[in-house]
Amino acid sequence: MVMQKIFRAVIMGPPGSGKGTVSGRISKTFGLKHLSSGDILRANINARTELGLLMKSCIDQGQLVPDDVMSRLILSDLRAMGRSSWLLDGFPRTVFQAEALDDAYIVDTVINLNVPFETIKQRLTSRWTHLPSGRIYNIDFNPPKVPGFDDVTGDPLVQRDDDTPETVTRRLAAYKTQTEPVLEFYRSKGVLETFSGTETNQIWPHIEAFFHRKLSSYNHRVA
Ligand code: ATP
Ligand code: MG
Repeated sequence: MVMQKIFRAVIMGPPGSGKGTVSGRISKTFGLKHLSSGDILRANINARTELGLLMKSCIDQGQLVPDDVMSRLILSDLRAMGRSSWLLDGFPRTVFQAEALDDAYIVDTVINLNVPFETIKQRLTSRWTHLPSGRIYNIDFNPPKVPGFDDVTGDPLVQRDDDTPETVTRRLAAYKTQTEPVLEFYRSKGVLETFSGTETNQIWPHIEAFFHRKLSSYNHRVA
């Protein structure tokens, strides 16, 4: 019989570093459930929930949503997933959030996408999103088959309200002051794996190989 241990991973990196794209590939290739804090917030905004309306101005200004709101939202979604392996994208983003997650679960691996800020600024302005699924396209290196439309559903793609140059600058500043300390938090726990590069397609094979190694050591055969 094959014993499948639950595998819990986090993906980190500055805004626009490719977390969404890489997460999609990891969940497709390795079957982890992908939970994106940004996608959850945008779904709330789209559906005009009370939470979404409250958080929209915060997000559009490039600021972080309050820690307690975010932590409660994500931890309840994780509980609802029960005994499945997951990959968290966009959470934790502050040391407060990392500690809240740490109180509830042991994180096995943290993938850190180390992409230069100059690359990111240029990239975010050429990004198109399929809001319902969170699928991301980039007109430079990962274009949709039909320009402006999602490959899977055929729905129209949109540009995010917070992908303007001024807001991107603010999001990068928030990343530096609030999120970089989280890297230290995980480095000191010995679970941080950094992958550096300027293009997702160049970084991906290294991440894929890493997950192959990691997951094969997790799935033991028992008599
Ligand atoms: P990308 O998705 O391209 O990597 P990003 O990380 O800035 O960029 P999202 O993760 O989609 O974007 O988040 C968008 C916005 O949602 C953030 O700028 C922030 O306002 C809010 N947000 C998302 N996750 C969190 C979180 N864990 N804590 C606080 N705010 C968050
Ligand atoms: Mg994202």
